Amino acid sequence: MTTSAYIHLPFCRRRCFYCDFPITVVGDSPTLAESLIQEYVAALCQEIAQTPADPLPLETIFLGGGTPSLVPPQFIGQLLEALDRRIGIALGAEISMEMDPGTFDLEQLQGYLGLGVNRISLGVQAFDDALLQLCGRSHTVAEVERAVEMIRQAGVANWSMDLISGLPHQSLAHWQVSLERAIALNPPHLSIYDLIIEPKTVFSKRYQPEAAPLPTQAQAAAAYRLGHKMLTAAGYDHYEISNYARAGFACRHNQVYWRNQPYYGFGMGATSYLGHRRLSRPRTRREYYQWLQTLPAGLNQVSADSLWDRWLETLMLGLRLKDGLCLTALAAEFPPSWVEALQAAAAKVSPKMLGMTGDRLYLRQPEGFLLANHVIVALWEALEGSVFRQQEGQGVPIH
Ligand code: SF4
Repeated sequence: MTTSAYIHLPFCRRRCFYCDFPITVVGDSPTLAESLIQEYVAALCQEIAQTPADPLPLETIFLGGGTPSLVPPQFIGQLLEALDRRIGIALGAEISMEMDPGTFDLEQLQGYLGLGVNRISLGVQAFDDALLQLCGRSHTVAEVERAVEMIRQAGVANWSMDLISGLPHQSLAHWQVSLERAIALNPPHLSIYDLIIEPKTVFSKRYQPEAAPLPTQAQAAAAYRLGHKMLTAAGYDHYEISNYARAGFACRHNQVYWRNQPYYGFGMGATSYLGHRRLSRPRTRREYYQWLQTLPAGLNQVSADSLWDRWLETLMLGLRLKDGLCLTALAAEFPPSWVEALQAAAAKVSPKMLGMTGDRLYLRQPEGFLLANHVIVALWEALEGSVFRQQEGQGVPIH
């Protein structure tokens, strides 16, 4: 049963230099923004209304972007109403909203809270004005501090802060200061992303991965280890490769992704995962509006994942979590011979990277998390070899 929904709100004042997300740049003109937002929210409401709904109400909703805090509360109200009408919103549902410093005031924040938003994810990225400018961010450190003050004044208990490590010219000492300042502001949750140079971004034209002023692999690893050390010492649980939380504040919505459970997705560029079908919507507004004309048939344009694809995705996503994979649960969903092959493959990986306690298989912290991609590739290779051998003569293991 599907009980989670992601809504993509693509508007940003300008494009940050590292960002390749599907967004619409609206600059600083509130009038232009408002007319585009109105049209887009009407389209979202149409998509929501035409989506076949499971009988259970939503337990988690994530308003992501883009910069959702550029969308005035009245429109967020329309979206939540549309979701409630079509699918239902459970009492106590987690409703998260991404907000950027400098894009909202206290009244606006209170407006969102009044509509039921109960978790804020604040895009901070760095505690250094020069670095923020270098990244093309449209806010300052003073605006970050003001935003946190408003979150406190409004009484938001459940909020998160995003930081990026591995920025150009960001030394380990700089990174330590960012972590210290983040800890001093005491968010109950932190997401820490390592900068990735995506094709076609401003950064991809300016910088070469692993060449100065970007960190080498060893420097990026040192930054990761420092984050783990400082945040766990400050009482945070490193519950997922990129996420830390105080007890009770792990993000419920994102755990649905990591556990490879189904979710609705609405809006341009958004992905939904329904009936084992992963559907990515067009990444521009115009194409998204055209795609809407194909509904409801357009929702079934992709074929369902094969059981083998689902198996690999479940392993890859589940290993991101500190708790890792439950082998008993896997054996209930997948052929037990695959689970046995996984255990045999895991035994070949260094125990410094991969642990097994009871029926749980998990990456060790921080070294297993740090080298997650390598460990997962090693597991795949051993696993594919072994399952293909088991099925020799029967072709690929698709059930
Ligand atoms: S605010 Fe976020 S979504 Fe918008 S351009 Fe910057 S990184 Fe991308």
